[in-house]
Amino acid sequence: MKILRLALIAHNNKKADMVMLAREFEPFLSQCNLCATGTTGGRLAEEVGLQVERMLSGPLGGDLQIGARLAMGEVDAIIFLRDPMTPQPHEPDINALVRASDVHDVPCATNLSTARLMLRQWMAVAG
Ligand code: PGA
Repeated sequence: MKILRLALIAHNNKKADMVMLAREFEPFLSQCNLCATGTTGGRLAEEVGLQVERMLSGPLGGDLQIGARLAMGEVDAIIFLRDPMTPQPHEPDINALVRASDVHDVPCATNLSTARLMLRQWMAVAG
């Protein structure tokens, strides 16, 4: 059985960080049920070898797809490495996803440090 249903999103300037994080936690992540926005998911599959369900790319609605899934109770946690320095064309979608995580009280890590804390905690719980 998969340990955790985890959604992964990284803005372009954060994709290298996401790949690094995924390599670091690959043994755990490979036991999780992963979904990701399109390009992020592609890189995780190609560069880390993870099995990832790829949604649409973020600017084309991928964040909203993940948000809808979360609202239905089908996502346990999100790692959302946002780029705070670059305006994004889909800012409303980004805000909607973060809001949905607050509405439904789903953990949403928006930077590497929080993501590491969250993953370590999940690993400890999983034993
Ligand atoms: P992407 O989407 O993984 O398809 O690049 C993430 C984003 O930029 O919102």
